[in-house]
Amino acid sequence: MIAEIVCVGTELLMGQIVNTNAQFMAEKLAPLGVDLYRQQVVGDNPQRLTEAVLTALDRSDVVLFSGGLGPTEDDLTKETVAAALGLDLVLYPEQWDRIVERFKGFGRQPTPNNRKQAMFPATHCTILPNPRGTAPGCLMEKDGKAAILMPGPPRELRPMFTDYVMPYLEKRSGHRLYTHMLRIFGKGESAVEYELKDLIDGQTNPTLATYCETGEVKLRITAQAKTDAEGEALLAPVVREVERRFGDVVYSENDEELAAVCHRLLIEQNATLSCAESCTGGLLSSAFVDLAGSSAYFIEGDVTYANEAKMGSLGVKPETLEKYSAVSKECAEEMAAGMRRKAGTDYALATTGYAGPDGEQVGLVYVSLASRDGVQVKELHLTGERSRIRRLAVLHALDLLRRKLCGK
Ligand code: ATP
Repeated sequence: MIAEIVCVGTELLMGQIVNTNAQFMAEKLAPLGVDLYRQQVVGDNPQRLTEAVLTALDRSDVVLFSGGLGPTEDDLTKETVAAALGLDLVLYPEQWDRIVERFKGFGRQPTPNNRKQAMFPATHCTILPNPRGTAPGCLMEKDGKAAILMPGPPRELRPMFTDYVMPYLEKRSGHRLYTHMLRIFGKGESAVEYELKDLIDGQTNPTLATYCETGEVKLRITAQAKTDAEGEALLAPVVREVERRFGDVVYSENDEELAAVCHRLLIEQNATLSCAESCTGGLLSSAFVDLAGSSAYFIEGDVTYANEAKMGSLGVKPETLEKYSAVSKECAEEMAAGMRRKAGTDYALATTGYAGPDGEQVGLVYVSLASRDGVQVKELHLTGERSRIRRLAVLHALDLLRRKLCGK
């Protein structure tokens, strides 16, 4: 089954918004056994939209549309797709009633152009409910082709895609792909590929593919199977083999991010955490606070950028700063130890380094972890732009904590 994604909207075309809907959907198609060959982005121009719709329906079995289901004149996706399939739109009274009710809930009345959002083809059409918005989506099926229309706002599209579109695609494709996404920190992509070359080249089911992310490598292992048990039976030996070769640089088998792994372990172990940050300026604390439930363990995060702050807030000794400077193993040690003492937490992480771009030692960063067993420090020599160095410093600090929490 060949699929294509068509995202409609001039804002999207002109780069004013990022096409997160395409990414969200594309990622989920392979595991459903659907081949995605093309994506298109088209503005709200009737002629070019018609061309995009006709081309997509001609060369693909399933076309996933996002956007253009609103009530205004330039929201044309439904009309254009229906016309391309030779279907006329009629008012669905129950959909109109739902829209009226929804407006009532906000103390408002729909305007006549909202009726457009209750118009669908009389035949060959299945409505896809949209509890989070006004415009329902729909599935139009004709002559072996399927057009699936979803609203543009991600908070409306995502649940519609997950709840209705994915089960439809799975049923239609007749087979499923099962995936494990391994995450690897501490080994580069080329080393991963080199060390797994025999598995990558020699396997057809499951298959292995690597993806590079800032400071990390993802390894997708995908098996085609008919049942969960069969899928898992194919995947498990390959996952074990990768883990045997790479050891503890593999930190997740199910695409869990480093911060999420630490978050889970801290909660499981009923432990508390604080962070003292210099060059990461709050990014490390934010990695935890981004995750719902972090209040269970996250006690305090200090950004101690200046030497005075390191001394005043964390008790770093003036002699340490004078003798070794703020970017030193000794300073990192005192920052973590001071933070842990002050916040009274089980663990404290600290970062200090040169994020650049100016200076001779750009990329020299120390991350440290204080626990009841003492303080560990890691010296890093990072490369890249300021934002990348800061991001990498966060990942290294997280990895230090992850290893400690796993008893490594
Ligand atoms: P509405 O009824 O809200 O107008 P719609 O289905 O007509 O919905 P659009 O008008 O195309 O959708 O987009 C509405 C908003 O949804 C956009 O302003 C944008 O914020 C977001 N959006 C649209 N398409 C995408 C996309 N592909 N990726 C991410 N966000 C998107």
